[in-house]
Amino acid sequence: ETVLAVDHLRKVYNENTEQQNVAVADVSFTVAKGEFVCVVGPSGAGKTTLLRCISGIAAPSSGGVSFEGRPLTDVPDQLGLVFQDYGRSLYPWFTNGKNVALPLRARGVAKADRAARVAEVLASVGLGHVEKQYPWELSGGMQQRVAIARALSYRPQLLLMDEPFASVDAQTRFDLEDLTLRVRRDLGVTVVLVTHDIDEAIYLSDRIVVLSKNPSVVKEIVPVDLGADR
Ligand code: ADP
Ligand code: ADP
Repeated sequence: ETVLAVDHLRKVYNENTEQQNVAVADVSFTVAKGEFVCVVGPSGAGKTTLLRCISGIAAPSSGGVSFEGRPLTDVPDQLGLVFQDYGRSLYPWFTNGKNVALPLRARGVAKADRAARVAEVLASVGLGHVEKQYPWELSGGMQQRVAIARALSYRPQLLLMDEPFASVDAQTRFDLEDLTLRVRRDLGVTVVLVTHDIDEAIYLSDRIVVLSKNPSVVKEIVPVDLGADR
């Protein structure tokens, strides 16, 4: 069952000027419910631009993105976003708990329900004990776990992650990768994750979408059955 459809997506920056730059040429792929898809490619291949178009942060020049057959702008509550730069995505003047609660406040969730949901989602990333602390009291990896908890706080169906583990050390990255796989399994959330690290993509994904710097080349890699119960 397809939940996300990227259909002939094209994004040109500075269109019709001398600086015109085709960041995404003509990309089409679908993602099934519960699937984990990684988008890989070298720096400049258009990965971030693609993810920004999927999330609605950027408007495509042509083509489009639909979620369960509807334009994404109609279903913003279905999306959770996690960026590489956790240090700038958490508010330093709010506790971790309040950071996680922000999307719930924005959606008008009542205070008591917010508190229960924040405690639950922080516990699910192994950080129940830091709710009253501030982001700057935590390591980078823990901050990124808070950011993941915040993205999951309103139970989105689709989690979009842009280079989420690129700024942490190797051991922390492995921990966060396994956390992401566990969250995905426990919540049944669909994940699209952008990375330039092919090993990470092979480890995490069911399927890999490859963007080439030559913007006309897009390939999908479908791994054979890995057997292992992930
Ligand atoms: P990454 O490789 O992780 O995508 P970049 O260094 O390419 O990061 O980009 C960092 C930021 O600068 C992004 O927000 C991106 O959209 C923006 N950016 C990248 N290239 C350009 C450009 N040529 N003109 C304006 N902004 C750009
Ligand atoms: P990747 O994430 O794969 O490194 P990006 O999507 O960041 O690729 O960038 C793709 C191309 O689009 C690059 O040539 C980059 O310089 C350009 N680009 C990205 N963001 C912007 C922007 N805001 N304005 C102009 N050009 C941009």
